[in-house]
Amino acid sequence: MIADTLIENVLIADGSGTPAQYGAVLVHHGVIADVIYHKERMGASPAAERINGRELMLAPGFIDAHGHSDLSLLAAPEAIGKISQGITTEIAGNCGLSPFPITDNNREHLEKLWQGYGEKLTWHDYRSYRQALLKRNPAINLYVQCGHNTLRAAVAGYETRQLSSEQLSTMKLMLLEMMQQGAIGFSTGLLYTPGLFSDENELVELLKVTAPFLRVYTTHLRSEGNKLIEAVTESIRLCRNSGQRYLHLSHLKTAGLSNHSKINQLLKLIDDTNLSGCPVITADRYPYIESLTQLSVALPSPFDELDDISLQMLLEDPGKFNEVVSALEQMDEQRLLNIRLVSTNSPQYRKFVGLKIMEISNITIKSGAWIVADILRQDAPGTMAAFSGMNKDNMLRILQQNYVTCGTDESARPKDFSLGVSHPRGFGSIANFIKYLCAEDTCSIEEAIARITSLPARIFNLANRGKIAPDMAADLVLFQPDRLQSNATFSSPHELTSGIDTVWVNGKIRYSNQQIIESTEL
Ligand SMILES: [Zn+2]
Repeated sequence: MIADTLIENVLIADGSGTPAQYGAVLVHHGVIADVIYHKERMGASPAAERINGRELMLAPGFIDAHGHSDLSLLAAPEAIGKISQGITTEIAGNCGLSPFPITDNNREHLEKLWQGYGEKLTWHDYRSYRQALLKRNPAINLYVQCGHNTLRAAVAGYETRQLSSEQLSTMKLMLLEMMQQGAIGFSTGLLYTPGLFSDENELVELLKVTAPFLRVYTTHLRSEGNKLIEAVTESIRLCRNSGQRYLHLSHLKTAGLSNHSKINQLLKLIDDTNLSGCPVITADRYPYIESLTQLSVALPSPFDELDDISLQMLLEDPGKFNEVVSALEQMDEQRLLNIRLVSTNSPQYRKFVGLKIMEISNITIKSGAWIVADILRQDAPGTMAAFSGMNKDNMLRILQQNYVTCGTDESARPKDFSLGVSHPRGFGSIANFIKYLCAEDTCSIEEAIARITSLPARIFNLANRGKIAPDMAADLVLFQPDRLQSNATFSSPHELTSGIDTVWVNGKIRYSNQQIIESTEL
């Protein structure tokens, strides 16, 4: 047998968590054909091409368990933000937002939401989306879940609170079809419109559809702060009442100063549930303590129930604008001033990206409340902000749990800012995740690698990824563990990670020496 490539002279950390061993990996037609640990066999191995790994570490491609590249991977398929971290696979369709199913009820809204990507939404279901994506030859593998918010809006738009029984039946049929077509799981974003209108009955009925597929239910909880424990309890109850076995908590955290003390209760609730065996709970976390989401989530009631498009239209009315400003003035001022502007399409505010509202307020001599309302008036759907309020010790404790993997919670962005500005986690999560896990020798590098390879592969049923073993896809990362370092910061968020040498996706080199390697083959 003549194989394509032999990657030799490497320390193989195979994704299982066991100590790395010196050896070579034989790649044939995009698949790992052999893993060789004996020097004699290495020399004898037939290969068209031999690559000297210079005693660097070779690991399975890293898996981003929580990404949002659904559209960005079409617009910038080279996925530099992801592949430069060694990420070869991303799970998308998160937080209830997926690029399918699309109907006349949600098309216009989604087109506005994603207008920054300059893509026409020409597809309508999982299958046609996937075809559109594969035509672009993306650098990384993308597995997409069906999102509850998109699904609900496809049937009932963005304003319907209580669904009729016909609407719920239509949603169930559509969800079934998406799962049959290959959606990797089902996600909810219960903090966002229209997901926040859903009651337990609606969600249980939908989970009854997904349960027989034995795929994962991922959730952006209804609350990550004041009602955190209630929200986790709700999601466990939903699974138990529907027969859904696998529950995955997205970007697990204790948000808000007054909720930091809930960490023990949170971890105990998860441990107790896992001991009971039903559902099986896993989670992901980005290794940062500032979150990133739409600036509009800062708004208090009743404005928090508007979708971003309606909100922007409402703010054009001067009377309503003043109402929003007064509502914002009633909020905790420190919290408001600590919000950091991360990206916006507003020409007027773009120059303030990276600054906190407090700093913008000092420069413009306007109040924080007025500035937030004004930014939202100019660009509610496209303005992203970082919210402080997470606790570092809690983050480290969450990362230490053996069921927690890494999710960037970001879309793959180009190095320039043509598709908006990323949270630094879009370029630096993996290196930080490994750094925190390996700090103080609590975890070996091999165990840290297992958490971002075989663990997420198991969570999302990716049978042929996440390990270096014969017959697995040849997704590989050659890197220098002692030089691995995130360089992305809030003021310079698109800096590439150091220490990543070469990245193969399905047997092809797609990144090497800080450069994208173009692949013309489809
Ligand atoms: Zn989310």
